[in-house]
Amino acid sequence: MKAVQFGEHGDRDVIEYGEFPDPDPAADEVLVDVKAGALNHLDVWTRKGLPGVDLEMPHIPGSDAAGVVEAVGEDVTRFEPGDRVTVTAGVSCGECEFCRDGDPTLCYRFNILGEHQRGVHAETAAVPEENLVPVPEGVDWEVAGSASLVFGTAWRMLHTRADVEAGEKVLVLGASGGVGHAAVQIAAHAGCEVFATASSEEKLRYAEACGADHVIDYEANDFADEVAEITGRRGVDVVVDHVGKETYPDSLKSLARGGRVVTCGATTGPNPGAGLDRIFWNQLSVIGSTMATPGEVDDVLELVWDGTFEPRIREVLPMSEAARAHELLEDRQGFGKVVVKPDSEF
Ligand SMILES: [Zn+2]
Repeated sequence: MKAVQFGEHGDRDVIEYGEFPDPDPAADEVLVDVKAGALNHLDVWTRKGLPGVDLEMPHIPGSDAAGVVEAVGEDVTRFEPGDRVTVTAGVSCGECEFCRDGDPTLCYRFNILGEHQRGVHAETAAVPEENLVPVPEGVDWEVAGSASLVFGTAWRMLHTRADVEAGEKVLVLGASGGVGHAAVQIAAHAGCEVFATASSEEKLRYAEACGADHVIDYEANDFADEVAEITGRRGVDVVVDHVGKETYPDSLKSLARGGRVVTCGATTGPNPGAGLDRIFWNQLSVIGSTMATPGEVDDVLELVWDGTFEPRIREVLPMSEAARAHELLEDRQGFGKVVVKPDSEF
């Protein structure tokens, strides 16, 4: 089969699309004929190399993909050949105290398909049964293969971790990114008043189309000042921040008394000042969130399948142009998800 792969970490030129041994599914795995899969920013991090993550090379990237079941291992009970499925990338041990307590995202051995082990951007992928969700007829492969990671992540951030309530003010940073555009839709659906930042007129209009009530051009204006202005100096109840060092001080500044910032990533760096003075005096909470449980993914994907939520597809490229897909992510041009499909599907 053919697979997107790289034999060493580095710039975009390490990415190739070429022959790779056919996967041999284990007893608990399902062989999926991949139709389409989105990239996520972690694909860029994985290609560059992450400290403490030692990959078996060549590595196949990709944490999101959807396709048709080709074959199943002998222990698989939920799927059979011909079923339409999408991947949910979180892998847990099922045995540690956190898994047994029902929250596999806290697993001691938690890891992500495509980041810590071989991923799914290939013509075929062997995926654990636990990591597949059925896809109804009528859902486009591009949509089915691009929703799981970002909508799951944003759902857990807002509903499970920040516990948002209708009427609360929620600020979503980087609303044009994958998690950002999912968070805007989820917060609006929860009945929140949604504030969103983006960097161009076009992206701001997209954020409005996703459900943002107030949009802020963070390149033209300091977003904390804008939030203060719009809210009459009160601030927002929740900030969704995956940007990190560059935005964290202003995220704290944007919060109302008793507010919370929820973070799922730190693209611009992990170590801003802690801001403890603001945290204790204004009684703020800083909340971490990683990926989503299978139950959370099920909940949010139901709302993707019925059209309540919509992953925006920025571009669909053949897998042989995976390097170009990385470029689109790294340049932060455009809005929504970049999807790749096996060249044979074009
Ligand atoms: Zn575990």
